Amino acid sequence: MTVLESRRIAWGASGRNGGFVSPGWAARASQVLKRVGPDHAKALFRLSMEGVTMVEEAIRDLGISDANVTPGILRVSRYENTRALEQLRDEQQAEFGRHLRLLTREEVQGLLLSNKYHQALLDEASFHFHPLNYARALAREIVRLGGRVHEDSPAVQVDLGGQEKTVRTPSGEVKAATVVLAGGGYTDSIVPALRRSFLPIATYVVLSELAPDLIAGAIRTKAGVSDGRRAGDYYRVVDGRLLWGGRITTRTTDPRDIAAVIRREIAATYPQLGALKIETAWSGLMAYARHLMPLIGPLMPNVWSCTGFGGHGLNTTAIGARVVAEAIAQESDRYRLFEPFSFAWNGGPFGTAAAQLTYWAYQGMDFLRERRSARAA
Ligand SMILES: Cc1cc2nc3c(=O)[nH]c(=O)nc-3n(C[C@H](O)[C@H](O)[C@H](O)COP(=O)(O)OP(=O)(O)OC[C@H]3O[C@@H](n4cnc5c(N)ncnc54)[C@H](O)[C@@H]3O)c2cc1C
Repeated sequence: MTVLESRRIAWGASGRNGGFVSPGWAARASQVLKRVGPDHAKALFRLSMEGVTMVEEAIRDLGISDANVTPGILRVSRYENTRALEQLRDEQQAEFGRHLRLLTREEVQGLLLSNKYHQALLDEASFHFHPLNYARALAREIVRLGGRVHEDSPAVQVDLGGQEKTVRTPSGEVKAATVVLAGGGYTDSIVPALRRSFLPIATYVVLSELAPDLIAGAIRTKAGVSDGRRAGDYYRVVDGRLLWGGRITTRTTDPRDIAAVIRREIAATYPQLGALKIETAWSGLMAYARHLMPLIGPLMPNVWSCTGFGGHGLNTTAIGARVVAEAIAQESDRYRLFEPFSFAWNGGPFGTAAAQLTYWAYQGMDFLRERRSARAA
């Protein structure tokens, strides 16, 4: 196996993300259900759970101690939501054997000292970790098993038609019987049909100064926290610093000051963190197809796509890679579960505008729900 990477291993989203590992897909369960029906949707959710197990097993089997695994993901609601959370908890237990614990508003506010939050579901089987160290360890394992990893090697031209495929970089070429395209939000136009099937969407993360006492005045849990909004905030305390991610935009250039934008978000949730300084900020690109599900499947004989994981990629890239590998080795056809999520055109510049408008509409709906809840309280 030969891996070609334009820059460095995990230079893309896989090395820049928030590190939250949990079941599910970038598409909401309700959207998946609507498109494929209950049995198929359950099969896909089970795959997403298998993806979480794969990450856990890789960390354990390869002894990746610097992945710094910390158990617990807390999904908080910013409006009164007890009934819906109870229903979700019960469904997840009955269908998938997942044990989620419902925390009351009082319990949540004992952990997160913000008046923004209402109830939460605590998932102690999900976890957060150091994604870059994890990805680098996987690359080392590929090399140990006899694979080759070439960094600074962008695929700039491909010839995929014949039995033997050729992938060219500026300084060489690789001949292969099978090619897997996995460029995520950084995929360029070497295969135009694939590039037209998704939109690159940018999102942001910041890391604060070291301020354990100040942060403990706001956040009293080691679990990762994410709010229930569609492009909401997610954050966790890492060795006395706050790592906070959020916002999405279809502008793929960095905004002038990511840190200032996210700092305002932090202070709006936790006024007591208004003085917390941001030390580092970065952005990353995610690939979103119109249906928000990954683009997994053959593009032509022996040419596979394994991309489009959006903002929920840690478990899903793992299982996506497994089902493609199984298909190449002719061990299973589980990739067919992704057939309803086709490589449809993303709408070009109009697609970009539509994605941004949808995001603003979602923000508007979230805002109204919070306001209604605040009025009722
Ligand atoms: C800021 C941020 C926070 C996130 N937080 C989370 C989270 O907490 N939990 C979660 O589950 N998911 C999260 N995600 C989503 C997750 O990181 C992605 O879905 C996942 O990493 C995508 O993996 P990938 O391998 O498809 O793409 P990437 O990791 O982006 O890798 C693609 C690689 O392909 C390379 N490449 C592209 N084109 C070429 C070419 N022509 N030749 C050679 N190489 C090429 C790129 O350089 C890049 O390194 C987040 C994403 C971002 C950006």
